[in-house]
Amino acid sequence: MSDIVLTCKDCGKEFTFTEGEQQFYQEKGFSNPVRCAECRKARKQQNN
Ligand SMILES: [Zn+2]
Repeated sequence: MSDIVLTCKDCGKEFTFTEGEQQFYQEKGFSNPVRCAECRKARKQQNN
């Protein structure tokens, strides 16, 4: 496994999905993230 670069669905910016994160997501059974950390954070704050 190695770091992969994904494009954020919300802002269109490229972000790195690191090896460690991929492992974490796989362990949890999550699918790959579609948003960058900033947009994920923004959404989280909106929901709270
Ligand atoms: Zn984004």
